This record gives sequence, structure tokens and C-alpha cells, in this order.
Amino acid sequence: MRIIKDICWALLFALVIGGVGFTFWVRDRYVVPILMYHHVGVPSGKWRLNTVSEQSFDYQMNFMKRHGFQVISFDDLITGMKQGQEFARNTVVIQFDDGYEDNYKYAFPILKKYGFPAIVFLISDKVGTPNFLTWDQVKEMEKYGFMAGAHTRHHAYLPRLTLAQAQDEIAGSKKVIEDHLGHPIDYFCYPSGGFTEDVKSLVKEAGYKAAVSTNRGKDKFNVDLYELKRIHMNNTDDRYSGLILWFKLSGYYNLFRHAKEGGGLHHKRFLNE
Ligand SMILES: [Zn+2]
Repeated sequence: MRIIKDICWALLFALVIGGVGFTFWVRDRYVVPILMYHHVGVPSGKWRLNTVSEQSFDYQMNFMKRHGFQVISFDDLITGMKQGQEFARNTVVIQFDDGYEDNYKYAFPILKKYGFPAIVFLISDKVGTPNFLTWDQVKEMEKYGFMAGAHTRHHAYLPRLTLAQAQDEIAGSKKVIEDHLGHPIDYFCYPSGGFTEDVKSLVKEAGYKAAVSTNRGKDKFNVDLYELKRIHMNNTDDRYSGLILWFKLSGYYNLFRHAKEGGGLHHKRFLNE
């Protein structure tokens, strides 16, 4: 009998030590979620997977407001990370890819209503063309906590380009946007999340302070400021009474994500990211 009792105590001890160890391990893997949106509007056609309806977007923002999430600007995130700031466990960053006109029409009024800041990564040479934001719209959004970043000149998949072409896309888009908005552009977004170490170096050389990817690159926990992972937000995230949303906003989503090679094979699914 004595031996069984000893085994039980040993197991309990191992469980407690293991539990404490696991808690610390998980704690260190907290990542401030960067929520990635593309279109906001009516999900249809080839954009269906990258579109969140106006109702769903409002639900998601309202959810964060109701539950006291702290939505901070992308700039505050990067500045804080550089200073080694410990972020509150309910911090969130909102981000848009490509700079579609529907961001102005549908997302902007909702974000204004809740007082949430956001960053929009612009494809510089698409600004002002059909379906994309105009410079005036970007300027108006900037007055209300929106911030612009660069997303190349033509949404080129950078690992496929020569370094000279990639440099033109990376540094060129920065210049075009800066010329139009009249202030520095500090952040970059790799089209389809694709990058290589060379591409990353070009981004640093161009003077950007940070860059975002999708789930590419080996750094799953956003230690490297030039390959920050984002969370793809969907139209269906408000299902199950917001359970999926809780998980995505928890800061532990990255624990379960599968990281891919930075410049790995370019799959069709990522063409529109
Ligand atoms: Zn994109």
C-alpha cells in the first residue's frame, strides 16, 4: 500500500511541476494579435474568402469593445516591442491589406464609431484606381487614427523578382506614398507574405522599421520585427457565440499555427493576400 501512496505523490508532484513549467512556457509565447483584414463588404466571387461582411466586422469590433480589448496602433506595437514593453494580455492591432475602397466605405465608419486605430498597407501604384482607396480618402482616414504602410508598387510576389526589381517595389512604394502623404512611411507588408532573407535585407535598407508576413517564416512568436505574423480574419469568426474570436484574440493563436518557409512555394490560395 505504501508504494502506491508514494507513486501517487510522485505523480502529483510531477503534474504540479509540469503544470507550472507549461504555464511559464505558454506565458512566454504570448503574441499581441495583429488582425488581418482585406475587403469589408459583401462576400462574393473570388474575394469571398478575403471579405468580411459589414455586419460581421461590426460584430467583431463590438466584441472587442464589450470585452475591454485594448486596440493599439501598429506604431505603438512596434515602439513598445523595441522597448521591451510588456503588453496587457488583451491588446490587439487591426490591419488592412491592399487598400481597397471598401475599407473607406464600410470599415472606416465602424472603426470611427468604436474609436479604434488601424493600419492599411497600400499598393502604391493602385491608389486612385477603380476599387482602391484614393489619396484623399487615405488622408481623411489618417485624421481618425488610420495609418498608412507600404505593400509594394504592384503587389508583386517578391521572392520571384530579381533583387533590383524587388528593391524598386520595396523602396519605390515607400517613396510614392511618402510623396503623396507628406510624411515618413515606416512599415511594410510582403505581398502574399512572401519573403527571403535578401528581400528582408532590402526592406531594412529601405528604412522600414518593421514588416508583416502571413504565416511564413520560422519565427512563430513575433520576435523578429521583419517577419511579424498576422491572423487572417474571416466572415465566420463570430460563429459559436464568439468562441473563434476569443481564440484569435487570445494572443496564443500562434502556438497552434503551422509556420511555412518565408519564400516557399507560391500557392494560388495566397495570391490575393
Ligand atoms: Zn496584399
